[in-house]
Amino acid sequence: MFPSSLRIDGARLWRSLMDLAQIGATPKGGVRRLALTELDRQGRDRVIGWLEEAGCDIAIDRVGNIFAIRRGLRDTAPVVLMGSHIDTQPSGGKFDGNFGVLAGLEVLRTLNDAAIETEKPLGVAIWTNEEGSRFVPVMGGSGAFAGVFSVEHLLAQRDTDGVTFGDALAHIGYAGAAPVGGRALDAYFEAHIEQGPVLERENRVIGVVTGALGQRWYDCVWTGQDAHAGPTPMEARHDALRAAAQLVLAVPAIALAHAPEGRGTVGHLRVEPNSRNVVPGRVAMTVDLRHPDDAALAEMDRDLRATTREIAHEHRVECELKEVDRFPSSRFDPACVEAVREAATALGLSHRDMSSGAGHDAIYVARVAPTAMIFVPCKDGISHNEIEDARPEHLEAGANVLLQAVLSRAGA
Ligand SMILES: [Zn+2]
Repeated sequence: MFPSSLRIDGARLWRSLMDLAQIGATPKGGVRRLALTELDRQGRDRVIGWLEEAGCDIAIDRVGNIFAIRRGLRDTAPVVLMGSHIDTQPSGGKFDGNFGVLAGLEVLRTLNDAAIETEKPLGVAIWTNEEGSRFVPVMGGSGAFAGVFSVEHLLAQRDTDGVTFGDALAHIGYAGAAPVGGRALDAYFEAHIEQGPVLERENRVIGVVTGALGQRWYDCVWTGQDAHAGPTPMEARHDALRAAAQLVLAVPAIALAHAPEGRGTVGHLRVEPNSRNVVPGRVAMTVDLRHPDDAALAEMDRDLRATTREIAHEHRVECELKEVDRFPSSRFDPACVEAVREAATALGLSHRDMSSGAGHDAIYVARVAPTAMIFVPCKDGISHNEIEDARPEHLEAGANVLLQAVLSRAGA
């Protein structure tokens, strides 16, 4: 029967979120629980304890990804998986990642309370190092699972203290024996806070996530000539900062030319010699372009290249523009997306389709399994911040959508 009359326990979900948030709690109400630290170990231990109480078998793979599996009637069938991550940014919040994991736990607890067995097994995944703030690459565990990079590559990454991912993982006791990837998944559903302002602004409860924006990251270096700010006439200058400043304005303009879904950001500038009375001879800056359509993103890339050439010419400076990373846009599985949309509709929840602007484990998992995401609003669209906040009733609604979507897939 769809939708099932079953509902999750919103108060229990909230208690679990607040309980987990105590591990690494910061004075301003946020969480600092960096990947593969002692606090990450404590967080993992606690959530695994809850998942075991919920009757799951636990497997841990070689990069520390955790899979908690609740048996199905057809136990050899591929698993319907839920999940997200529990590592946080250095000054992170209580909900980013944690909601997706604990909503999955809450779905299992709800089925246990109602003594419901599903046809296919259900599972909750906790992916290692999603945030990428201690170790690069971001979404490390799910990326290795999807074969985006090798296990060896991930284990060899070092944090700023020179500690390798592999050593940190072993140190907290989470270097598991299970192979990375190759696990048969029927589907993967990840619930997450939106991390943007759209749902809140439109007063909607559920974001039906159809895919993710493609991204291109660049390093851009302008080279002119250092010169004295007094004796050097304006027309004789090779001012690298003036050129860079023009690009700072051009990048958002490129995004706006591909509205409403284009994004363009300059987030970092390094000016040399950075002195009050010296015309800057060198500026290094970053550019981040995003769009859900790869063809549009390629156009934005062409615009960026043409613009930098024009600016360099106009200001008589050199420009070196280097693409340093690229994530293609991803489209989630239409049937899984439809399961989320149908669940929101059946539950009478206001919803809209949207693209994810941020990276998520689901984006990598989507390469190896039918995948979809469920967004819920967060206060003022803020995340990666201690003041990140979400309303209990929205989290409850998101977990109920997760429950219905999972049931439609797993068969009850
Ligand atoms: Zn997250």
